[in-house]
Amino acid sequence: MRTSTPAKVHGVAADLDSVLGELSRSGCRVTQQRRSIVAEFAQLRRYVTPQELHARLAGRRPRTGLATVYRTLEVLERLGAATRALRPTGEASYLFCAGAHHHHAVCVRCGKVDDVPCGSVDRFARTLAARRFRLTQHRLEFFGLCARCSA
Ligand SMILES: [Zn+2]
Ligand SMILES: [Zn+2]
Ligand SMILES: [Zn+2]
Repeated sequence: MRTSTPAKVHGVAADLDSVLGELSRSGCRVTQQRRSIVAEFAQLRRYVTPQELHARLAGRRPRTGLATVYRTLEVLERLGAATRALRPTGEASYLFCAGAHHHHAVCVRCGKVDDVPCGSVDRFARTLAARRFRLTQHRLEFFGLCARCSA
């Protein structure tokens, strides 16, 4: 889920190449390991823990260390290319999330995440303005069953 905090708006990275570019501009060496971490992560449409992502990369050459996966996900979050959510166990999980402001529809059964364009926020802004509250950012996430799981 993206919010309209300035850090994220300026850190927008719409695709893999621009994310890798930002990674290197932020002082992170874009090694082959890092490239494969980001590529695998970017095509997953679900929240994953660093351990889960690391397990998916098992058997690939060059070998990728768990510590590198942790650090890469942290940097991606800082750059505004990943969003973080805590599992009920307290574990941090991450979802690749870049590009223009949008929201997420999360399937509670299979975990698939769809991007949803942002709408209807003006109505909330007006309601809040009537209470003399000036809206500067918002977070919104939808939960339910995806097309496949509800079929
Ligand atoms: Zn997203
Ligand atoms: Zn589903
Ligand atoms: Zn929105």
